[in-house]
Amino acid sequence: MPDTQVQSINPANGEVIESFTPLNASGIESALDKAADRFLSWRNVPLAERAELLNSAADILEAKASEYARDITLEMGKPLAQAEGEVKKCATACRHYAEHGASYLQDETIRTDAHRAFVRHLPMGPVLAVMPWNFPFWQVFRFAAPGLMAGNVGLLKHASNVWRSAMNIEDVFRRAGFPDGCFQTLLIGSSDVEGVIRDNRVKAVTLTGSGPAGRSVAAIAGDSIKPSLLELGGSDAFIVMPSANLDKAVKTAVTARTQNSGQSCIAAKRFFVHADIHAEFSKRFVAAFDTLEVGDPMKDSTDVGPLATLQIRDELADQVDRSLKGGAECLTKDRTLPGKGAWIAPQILAEAHSGTPSTDEEMFGPVANLWKVSSLDDAIARANRSVFGLGSTLFSKEEAEIDKAVNELEAGATFINSMVASDPRLPFGGIKQSGYGRELAADGLHAFMNRKTVSVA
Ligand code: NAP
Repeated sequence: MPDTQVQSINPANGEVIESFTPLNASGIESALDKAADRFLSWRNVPLAERAELLNSAADILEAKASEYARDITLEMGKPLAQAEGEVKKCATACRHYAEHGASYLQDETIRTDAHRAFVRHLPMGPVLAVMPWNFPFWQVFRFAAPGLMAGNVGLLKHASNVWRSAMNIEDVFRRAGFPDGCFQTLLIGSSDVEGVIRDNRVKAVTLTGSGPAGRSVAAIAGDSIKPSLLELGGSDAFIVMPSANLDKAVKTAVTARTQNSGQSCIAAKRFFVHADIHAEFSKRFVAAFDTLEVGDPMKDSTDVGPLATLQIRDELADQVDRSLKGGAECLTKDRTLPGKGAWIAPQILAEAHSGTPSTDEEMFGPVANLWKVSSLDDAIARANRSVFGLGSTLFSKEEAEIDKAVNELEAGATFINSMVASDPRLPFGGIKQSGYGRELAADGLHAFMNRKTVSVA
């Protein structure tokens, strides 16, 4: 338990924005008590009432989007317009579960020899969410909206660099009128997570973040025999075949790699382009990267802001360095960066060798890796060499190619002729070292429920 203050630091200029006092042991204790107590009444609140509260949360998110977005940008540096888009997307998740929650939660009738048999979905209780800083609002709402609709209560342990956003999220639910204790932010460090997972009042844990954090949380949850869901890193493949609409493919490739300043789990990170169109694709891809505006994330015209912290910037710079030393070629131009702050230039690395960060690690920032491939089989084989399996994209108009990619790409999602994006209507999650379990859609709502079998003779 850290007893020192935790600071939010603006990554664009290194200035301290705000300091927070972490919860002490008795603060954690009373939050868990409150969550457990609240669950006993919240689970009996009618679905229509839960839906109304979620719609109120959506109203607040929309009304206060620019205020919350400003805090997001100050804390982690993403361009302001993208931060505002993120907050508004959270409103769509709340509205989705307000509208569809009741149908997702209906009893499932099953014919047996009994007079009546069915499955009822019952909430489990307080669920801990350990969340990352890269989409400080969206990652939390995609857990909280289905969870609250399901009748669970939420406990948030947010990344230590975005605690103002963590407090703002609690504020959304308070203002919306959710009873006290339905959703609480715990200002705790990662060393306090184990105690919270092991606590009897906490029934399950979900983590979005890195492999090491996921491994630790899953091991503790396993040892405590509690369900866990992991949304971890990715190194998504983006395959372009000769029949693709090249304009659209290049435009989408640039957005897919640089959105959120490249710090997205489902960002396309490895680009495999067929030899027939590789030269043209590469020329346009590089030209687009070279004209991206890198700078003040508060400015409307900015495409790429700073990375979230100096440490993240240094780790990415080191990965680029190791890939270049390992044989990759940098295709993009050198550029002058704004100076103090966690800045890095958008870059395209070509033909990196296997065994380097470009092939083996997740690169969490605006760095694209590009390879020429001889066929779709070649592209799929290289794509599947990654330890990750989150999303994947194919640009092609050929039905046979589309079918092959859908069947053979090892990923939790394959998007055809568009970039991978999360959507409250679609299940979201990975395979391999990208994690397990699914969020969003009906899956996200059922993630932490007791599917109780009922048989009436
Ligand atoms: P991170 O370092 O793993 O942190 C994520 C959260 O886990 C933070 O709240 C962090 O708290 C906590 N944490 C770290 N180590 C922990 C441990 N040993 N035990 C318990 N909690 C621990 O990840 P990040 O750098 O914030 O986020 C980037 C990663 O998240 C990338 O790999 C990205 O791909 C992944 N991600 C995945 C998805 C997805 O849906 N699959 C979505 C977004 C991001 P502190 O901040 O206090 O350390």
